Amino acid sequence: MPVSEATPTAPTASTTGGAPLAILQQVFGYPAFRGQQQDIIQHVSAGGDALVLMPTGGGKSLCYQVPAIVRHRREQGVAIVVSPLIALMHDQVGALEEAGVHAAFLNSTLTLDDTQKIEREMMSGRLVLLYAAPERITTPRMLAQLDSLHERGLLSLFAIDEAHCVSQWGHDFREDYLGLNVLHERWPDVPRIALTATADDLTRADIITRLQLQTARVFISSFDRPNIRYSIVEKDEARKQLLRFLRDEHEGDAGIVYCQSRKKVEETAAWLNDEGLTALPYHAGLDADVRKRHQDRFLREDGIVMVATIAFGMGIDKPDVRFVAHLDLPKNIESYYQETGRAGRDGAPADAWMAYGLADVVNQRRMIDESPAEEEFKRGQRSKLDALLALAEAHDCRRVRLLAYFGEESSPCGNCDNCLNPPATWDATEASRKALSCIYRFHQNRGQRFGAGHLIDVLRGKVTDKVTQYGHEQLSTFGIGADLSETQWRGVLRQLIALGHLRTEGEYNTLELTPSAREVLKGEVALLLRVPSEAPKRGRTGRVAKAGGGREKPAPIALDDDGQRRYAALKAWRAEVAREHNLPAYVVFHDATLAEMARDQPGSLDELGGISGVGAKKLEAYGREILRVLGEAG
Ligand code: ADP
Ligand code: ZN
Repeated sequence: MPVSEATPTAPTASTTGGAPLAILQQVFGYPAFRGQQQDIIQHVSAGGDALVLMPTGGGKSLCYQVPAIVRHRREQGVAIVVSPLIALMHDQVGALEEAGVHAAFLNSTLTLDDTQKIEREMMSGRLVLLYAAPERITTPRMLAQLDSLHERGLLSLFAIDEAHCVSQWGHDFREDYLGLNVLHERWPDVPRIALTATADDLTRADIITRLQLQTARVFISSFDRPNIRYSIVEKDEARKQLLRFLRDEHEGDAGIVYCQSRKKVEETAAWLNDEGLTALPYHAGLDADVRKRHQDRFLREDGIVMVATIAFGMGIDKPDVRFVAHLDLPKNIESYYQETGRAGRDGAPADAWMAYGLADVVNQRRMIDESPAEEEFKRGQRSKLDALLALAEAHDCRRVRLLAYFGEESSPCGNCDNCLNPPATWDATEASRKALSCIYRFHQNRGQRFGAGHLIDVLRGKVTDKVTQYGHEQLSTFGIGADLSETQWRGVLRQLIALGHLRTEGEYNTLELTPSAREVLKGEVALLLRVPSEAPKRGRTGRVAKAGGGREKPAPIALDDDGQRRYAALKAWRAEVAREHNLPAYVVFHDATLAEMARDQPGSLDELGGISGVGAKKLEAYGREILRVLGEAG
């Protein structure tokens, strides 16, 4: 964003005080800190290093933005924010400028003229925050500029966002992050704060060593996202299930549908469009400008469904993503949690929905088996996949399992499919033995192997060409499973694969017993399976977000008819402003802030300033307009 040199900086310390809470209230318009924000901000403002682990939507940005303002007001100069996401810098900076905080970014999209202007703002120390990608920061030119700032005592802070990019363990690894150890080596007295939503121990340890944060204080927040409802359904006809989910529960909502392959992304997006939804594809195979256009539309327009591979999502801070749906199984719980975490950053009810089936298990297992990685690495991946499969097959609270995976203890949440609708189970021990012994018989027969489809035909006593071709109607196991439906059999096989008693091999995914199958065959292992069922429809209202979790969650506000009218008028006004400023609407005001205005009908600037999300700068810039819009809407 082009900056004018006349852009006013935030009110000075002498007018508002430089204490963190005063800044939160004055600049951002929020009444109170959440969770550990206050401790983190105090520590960093005082010059300490910090590593912050907080779930998506937890409020990481303020953890470095407030210290940057505090230190700027103490004339400590410019905070440098390292962010991997050039495409999002414009909006991040726009949001700060809207709040009256002088910020800018340096990246390759700027003209020479704008670049020079921003560099002057930076070198003068007037800038509060400067965003740049790591590869920019480590250029000789920038290093020299930072040296000069440092010599004059104007280098206030380094914030390293998405710090897990430094770790090779995640799929977000960025080579350029490795160069960031220069920050500590070159300017050891400048405080650093590294932030990430990736919680696992390996990544954490990696961040600490690679960024040399050994002496940093580590702040670990609860990873619970109480407003997200987790549901995992058994795949039957995935597309239809998805459509039903979208129509019944998310008509007109913005959300993300994750698929594994580019092809499936394209097909699913096209199909959803045919069904009358506005869906856009996003994957790494699309041109950069198409990707940017789709991302911008998702951020700026209402109710867009983004159908995407995992290439989409990091750093997307759209607060009102109402659902994240998975049509394919992610790699592990870390990925699942990070992807689903993009829903409901605003704290209002949101859904994480996944359809999962036998083929998913088979595919994920095969991808690991066939990858060229070291055996030790594969073992790690397999055990991570197993944890995800156990989550998918679970009959008990999904959240308890998710949080336990991240080392947190909790009790049943009341806001996941299994809590709301405890699934019936059936004893599949006998059925499992039948399936395994049938596979054993195939094998006895000249070592032959078959896939799930044929096995189920034999178990159910179906006479197909293939059955007669191999003489399988002669087997003692032919027809012994006629009492179960094909879907039930698929469930049994899926669980046997998920639990590692069966594995699949080769191009045709033929089934093979593993050593542990023997225990099942001997009846030593009891298997309890969920009865396949579609979650019953539920309305959009009456969803209760779990209380607690250490964070205040704004409830979605109920508005009467007049309130609704005022709300609509405010949204129309906001759309106008957002267009003029070329920013997403939520950067101007969040929905929750507008809803509160519509409900409380503030009659003066003073009253308006008391609404959460209305800071001093926005009050000054928009206050009168808002009062006018409210007055006209009546
Ligand atoms: P993260 O980067 O951790 O995913 P953000 O920094 O984007 O999360 O914050 C998520 C949302 O919560 C944002 O819309 C932000 O404005 C809001 N938020 C953060 N801290 C507070 C607070 N103390 N009070 C009210 N809203 C907050
Ligand atoms: Zn639950």
